[in-house]
Amino acid sequence: MSSPTSLTETRHSSPVPRRDAKPKLAVYWTGSCGGCDVSFLEVGEAIVEVLSRVEIVFWPALVDAKRSDLEALPPGSIDVALINGVIRTEENAEMAKLLRAKSKYIVAYGACAHLGGVPSLADRWGKEEIFREVFGKGFRPGPPPGANGEAALPDLLDAAVPLEDVVRVDYVVPGCPPPAPLISRFFGALLGGEMPEPPHVFANVKALCEECQRVRHDDRRIERIVRPHEVLPDPETCLLEQGLICMGPVTRGGCNALCPAAGMPCTGCLGPTPEAGDPGTAMLSALASLVRFEDEGEEYFPKEDGVLEALADPLGTFYMYSFGRFRRKR
Ligand code: SF4
Ligand code: SF4
Repeated sequence: MSSPTSLTETRHSSPVPRRDAKPKLAVYWTGSCGGCDVSFLEVGEAIVEVLSRVEIVFWPALVDAKRSDLEALPPGSIDVALINGVIRTEENAEMAKLLRAKSKYIVAYGACAHLGGVPSLADRWGKEEIFREVFGKGFRPGPPPGANGEAALPDLLDAAVPLEDVVRVDYVVPGCPPPAPLISRFFGALLGGEMPEPPHVFANVKALCEECQRVRHDDRRIERIVRPHEVLPDPETCLLEQGLICMGPVTRGGCNALCPAAGMPCTGCLGPTPEAGDPGTAMLSALASLVRFEDEGEEYFPKEDGVLEALADPLGTFYMYSFGRFRRKR
């Protein structure tokens, strides 16, 4: 766990005014691993302050509230609902819509709600193929033997989609899971009554490279691509320069370049910068400029070197967290 983090960071004029009453908060988990629910602990002791200054009205991982309790609430009676996870099942979509109806503001919390996340990589295959691969040939979803239809598991949607495909999203706290500085930034604004105008992403507009402490050389060029388990990188030099695919040039900053600081390339969990747009296209362009050669003033890309061909799993590398979003936009 990170060291305790202050909840007082950048201040903004707020559509959620500061008031004496505690903001009513809901947290819900759709198709996710559960890491986002645990991530709140990343802020260390400050989580105690957060929990003492909000009223939790619905958070199945923490308090025993049922769907019927949520249904009984008046429309708009929850101030802020944080939803983490991809929308993968009919139940996920229903719950997202229910929370939208009961809440003034909806926050896509974490990479899955934001962009589809790792689970949306499953959309390389159709629903039927997934069932066949996981449960075997001939499997049909339905109630357990002897039970009625109500006991059936909720059906999968045709695709795993980000939250914004199902409901209007006001705020995003990105990351897989969101890192401590961004969780603090969000709660600092909420509890200070200084939330920015929606829509707003609680991360930097500038790329991660801007906050990374590793040295980038002007004449850098990639001569080979390597994977993290194949090298022990130099501790000072830019990882991309050392042939590791680091998504820093196209990813939003805000995490203090956590992964490169620990010797691991950024995998892009905060999502692409507004300038980068589609992270795959932007990263390929960045890579192409790094593998180029120059001869007598002319630039060329030596195909025989096969530098880019050595890239393993381009889709999983460039769209690890964002396939759900960009699959449809390509
Ligand atoms: S290591 Fe990654 S984040 Fe750091 S400067 Fe290089 S490309 Fe950017
Ligand atoms: S360095 Fe990249 S992958 Fe690591 S936390 Fe930051 S944005 Fe996410």
